Amino acid sequence: PSVQELSPYVPGKPVEELAREFGLKESDIVKLASNENPLAPSSKVTAAITEALPDLTRYPDGSGFALKEKLAHRFNLETEQITLGNGSNDILELVARAWLAPGRNAIFSEYSFAVYPIATLASGAECRQVPAKNYGHDLEAMAAAIDDNTRVIFIANPNNPTGTWFDQAALNAFLRKVPNNVLVVLDEAYIEYAEQSDLPDGMDFLSRYSNLLVSRTFSKAYGLAALRVGYAVSSKEIAEVLNRVRQPFNVNSLAFVAACAALDDQEYLERSRTMNNQGMQQLEEGFKRLGLSWIPSRGNFIAVDFQRDASPINQELLQKGVIVRPVAGYGMPTFLRVSIGTQAENQRFLDALTEVLKQD
Ligand code: PMP
Repeated sequence: PSVQELSPYVPGKPVEELAREFGLKESDIVKLASNENPLAPSSKVTAAITEALPDLTRYPDGSGFALKEKLAHRFNLETEQITLGNGSNDILELVARAWLAPGRNAIFSEYSFAVYPIATLASGAECRQVPAKNYGHDLEAMAAAIDDNTRVIFIANPNNPTGTWFDQAALNAFLRKVPNNVLVVLDEAYIEYAEQSDLPDGMDFLSRYSNLLVSRTFSKAYGLAALRVGYAVSSKEIAEVLNRVRQPFNVNSLAFVAACAALDDQEYLERSRTMNNQGMQQLEEGFKRLGLSWIPSRGNFIAVDFQRDASPINQELLQKGVIVRPVAGYGMPTFLRVSIGTQAENQRFLDALTEVLKQD
């Protein structure tokens, strides 16, 4: 029955579809809709994939040995603490499959990632959506919403689609309040963009809180969205439970070699961060010039507020070949979420937006 309440995930409009719809050239279209990395993939990654191509007839390594070893080494973990997923989305679903069921509930914030309710409802459990505070997580209210049937709490730092974040003290205070039988999923899909700032590193809390799971992805700052690879770090006991419910070969061979190569290319990660910081500044300056307000973001995207229905603006941007993300489905009808692109892509977006706003 809960699947009947479920609305499917709506991805950003594909470039090919828009080109056909408005008779545009694909090369003239700018897509800033899915929080993707605007850089080309690391040359180390493309070389590793090319080398792995002759092995396509074989199943991937079902245990993900090489990638787990690399992650364990990088983050000072034991390999048994790591779970690999077909994107971090897979991790969220494994959690729901193992921890949720009819009669149970999962807590998440208003204006948070669309997959939390999808995974929860698909497992027959109930969604407890807690009102946000200034568009960010109200961690106190989320802890207060726990009842005897709560099994999972999803929190994202930074959060998508708002880009909001919480600090170390807030996370610590929250974790202290959550009972041990409730699994806290700390979704850090965008954490690499926020490093050296005031955001906590979730992995630092694992030794103190055995009910914590930190999920991360190679889709964003590492630039591997197409290959679908993410990971979770938790206690060995939690990882062992997730391992029971995953499909045997949930991460593909090309994703494995690409993720290993990506971890070896720290320079790429630095370039991703620099480009993101510069692009964020460029968009904020553009919004300021246009008299628009926005939610300060620590992700690779920013939600801009038009203070009126944003869908006609979105429609006109599409006609000009610029794809951004409407967030009305998240309860934010006056906002559009814009992913940070290259300098030229950001400028294309700002120019198109300036024209659209001038027209009305
Ligand atoms: N968590 C959050 C907060 C996200 O925004 C996304 C992607 N949009 C994901 C998880 C899943 O990403 P992936 O499956 O590509 O790792």
